[in-house]
Amino acid sequence: MHIRKGDVVELTTGDDAGNTQAPTTGRVLRVLPEKNKVVVEGVNRVYKHLKPSRRNPQGGRLSKEMPVSAANVLLYCPSCRRGVRIGRRYSAAGAKERYCKKCGAGLGALSKPREAYAKK
Ligand SMILES: [Zn+2]
Repeated sequence: MHIRKGDVVELTTGDDAGNTQAPTTGRVLRVLPEKNKVVVEGVNRVYKHLKPSRRNPQGGRLSKEMPVSAANVLLYCPSCRRGVRIGRRYSAAGAKERYCKKCGAGLGALSKPREAYAKK
């Protein structure tokens, strides 16, 4: 999976996707790897209508985000200021990291630095 919890992503398609001038971005709240889906803050919000129950005697509507397919989001690159495709590589310190395939900027370490992979 190319997305992790806490990432900022850009929506590429779907009801909440923006356009190239105003792309929709949001923070990933949850990742569902077994379904290949992610929950993005403020994206794909639905109202769940609740019947009055003992715990919630008033009933009413609950607004919440539903998962979207991970194929429809791209990791946001701050220097390109858009969603980009990513690659993986070892940083100079020897940590596995993701990077932007467009500009080459590192997009955060995925593991602790390991001596064996550090550039000498
Ligand atoms: Zn970039």
